[in-house]
Amino acid sequence: MSAAFAAFSLCALPVTVSAAELNLYTTREPALIAPLLEAYTAKTGTKVNTVFLKDGLAERVASEGAASPADILMAVDAGNLVDLAEKGVTQPIESATLNAAVPEQLRDAKGYWFGLSMRARVLYAAKDVDLTAFNYEDLADPKWKGKICIRSGQHPYNTALFADYIAHYGEAETEKWLSGVKDNLARKAAGGDRDGAKDILGGVCDIAIANSYYVGLMRSGKGGEDQVKWGDAIKVVLPTFKNGGTQVNISGAAVAKHAPNKEEAVKLLEYLVSDEAQKIYAEANYEYPVKAGASVDPIIASFGELKIDSKPLAEIVGYRKEASALVDKVGFDN
Ligand code: FE
Repeated sequence: MSAAFAAFSLCALPVTVSAAELNLYTTREPALIAPLLEAYTAKTGTKVNTVFLKDGLAERVASEGAASPADILMAVDAGNLVDLAEKGVTQPIESATLNAAVPEQLRDAKGYWFGLSMRARVLYAAKDVDLTAFNYEDLADPKWKGKICIRSGQHPYNTALFADYIAHYGEAETEKWLSGVKDNLARKAAGGDRDGAKDILGGVCDIAIANSYYVGLMRSGKGGEDQVKWGDAIKVVLPTFKNGGTQVNISGAAVAKHAPNKEEAVKLLEYLVSDEAQKIYAEANYEYPVKAGASVDPIIASFGELKIDSKPLAEIVGYRKEASALVDKVGFDN
């Protein structure tokens, strides 16, 4: 702002500056968060402007520097939230409300980012396959030889799972396990998560490793008639680590380092973890709310109780590079 304009502003504007407007930068599809923001505006009168960026969120905010109008940054995948914090474009937030609602392992220890919704890496299985008390460790059991379907090992959904395995067992054990899983594949590791369900229907595999929300997208008919058949052909099992829970990833948000309206930004984040918002937010994409006790879509609730893994996402993200290197080392995608 030029000095002349600044001086003019001082004379022309009222002394109290209204902060009834917030700017939210998001890599999430706007349609998924629009209902929430509308509900927030209706409740508080605060208008929320969204800037949708398919990628390059950290770079955009960094290049805007101290003049950035961004108040809140929203992203999917813990890796992207850690990346925002590491690039210095977020700030630490102390909020008893956020800390109480978001489990410790799903937020940054210093408040640089918070998980708002979750997805779990689960098993899809043919209905006649017995998977009682199934652990991720069991995927390497030779009894599943030629029976497992999965997308590329290098996909971030899979490197996150393998990184969680490293967090539990270390690199050497994970390499052995991953090599065992590779030996059990029914086909090349490729396609998308929904192809796992399609290939179970087609008799190509007995079990597939895939994300929880795709079951909602398939069974609800949102993905078309064929996908309803895929979704109906499978049952869903929530595997756990023997010494932990089910691997999850998050969508989440952070307050921007130079947020012009920090207080308002924190209020919006606090609203996003309220029971009302958690229900709307989670159901929009068949995700799990992060807040215990918040309502879950019936399709997702039918999988049974989710016990989230104990390892902090911030720690798991740190093992992604090693996980990716192991995928290459064992020739997982060959
Ligand atoms: Fe996805």
